[in-house]
Amino acid sequence: MALVVQKFGGTSVGTLDRIQNVARRALATRAAGHDVVLIVSAMSGETNRLLKLAHETCQIPSERELDVIAATGEQVAAALTALAIQSQGGEARSLLGHQLRVHTDSAFTKARIVRIDGDRIFETVREGKIAVVAGFQGVDPRGNITTLGRGGSDTSAVAVAAAIHADECEIYTDVDGVYTTDPNICPSARKIGRIAYEEMLELASLGAKVLQIRSVELAMKYGVPVHVRSSFSDVTGTWVVKDEETLEDVVVAGVAYDKNEAKAQILEVPDRPGVVAELFGQLSARNVPVDMIIQNTAYGYGDRTDVTFTLAKTDLHRYRGDIEELARKVGGSGVRYDEDVVKVSIVGLGMRSHAGVASKMFGLLAKEGINIQAITTSEIKISCLIAAKYTELAVRALHDGFGLQHASTRDAS
Ligand code: ADP
Ligand code: ASP
Ligand code: MG
Repeated sequence: MALVVQKFGGTSVGTLDRIQNVARRALATRAAGHDVVLIVSAMSGETNRLLKLAHETCQIPSERELDVIAATGEQVAAALTALAIQSQGGEARSLLGHQLRVHTDSAFTKARIVRIDGDRIFETVREGKIAVVAGFQGVDPRGNITTLGRGGSDTSAVAVAAAIHADECEIYTDVDGVYTTDPNICPSARKIGRIAYEEMLELASLGAKVLQIRSVELAMKYGVPVHVRSSFSDVTGTWVVKDEETLEDVVVAGVAYDKNEAKAQILEVPDRPGVVAELFGQLSARNVPVDMIIQNTAYGYGDRTDVTFTLAKTDLHRYRGDIEELARKVGGSGVRYDEDVVKVSIVGLGMRSHAGVASKMFGLLAKEGINIQAITTSEIKISCLIAAKYTELAVRALHDGFGLQHASTRDAS
């Protein structure tokens, strides 16, 4: 007998029929003799709908109130799922973030889990009931409702699995595993049988929304085995596992893209020590994460330089005034923005031991006539910022250019 955590995403609970399907699956696991804890997301489209209501009411809504509104999506889904289980003759109890409790910090809309009390879950399971936990939500030290960032139910699931020492954490979604790239934009994408935590971490942080990045961080930290699979079939999905030597056989494991970044260019700032420190120090004081940074003085440009960086589009909208004020403060002549950009990235453990991967990537993009606006690299990833209109073209060119459409040693056996 095992203790199994099963997380169902928005599409998997998107209609009442699908919620009945979730209930059937949970009851089948229970009938096989296991204890079951479900984590559910809001019904698909619901979180967007709720956030839109808030933005229609107030142009820049308070993040505390946004969380109060957004958390209701998961509350409804959890109770409906408990009801569906009961309607099929099973026993279930819904549990909200503040009932469990899921303790978080107070960073509204992107809170971090600090600790989870497992008592209510154990109590529920001991009574023979299926615990249905509302994902995405928690409570801060002052009792405020918080949410964990978009896609946060994945993190709820892994954190609960770690807290109750579950034997397995299954992430049920609308694709049957983690693919070599987003199967919805690249027809030749293939399911990966096994992927290392580090690679999944990079893919998630670079835009592959199949798992939220924090869920992978937690899985890695606590050694939670994660199985990403389809809620519409029984086929084996993708196992996210510890780094093993054999995984290095593949140079590039996946391609990701992120459309949520925007580019800001601070023009003609004085090229002297302290300017960049001031600029990014002030941004970080406002809790605005910056991703790619380029600073380059053109020849003959004198003692001034442009500082270009990328940040989340939502942060650009919220902090545009601050950025312009900062630009003035450091002596810049103005700020230019570009929101029509996308970051495409390749990821793979094998890059550690292979040279020439970057130049191959640049060559594949050049062959399609795609201009690269910024580049960043780390040990196991390379990212390029390009015009958003080339997203699909770039992803497909990189995917097939690195041979990801072919069978590999990573395939599920
Ligand atoms: P859920 O609602 O179940 O949490 P999400 O929409 O958050 O599902 O994540 C699943 C989606 O992630 C897929 O439908 C797919 O479009 C997208 N995706 C992006 N990159 C990948 C990838 N490499 N492998 C699988 N899915 C991916
Ligand atoms: N419902 C939340 C969202 O849409 C959380 C999740 O689905 O994981 O982002
Ligand atoms: Mg998701």
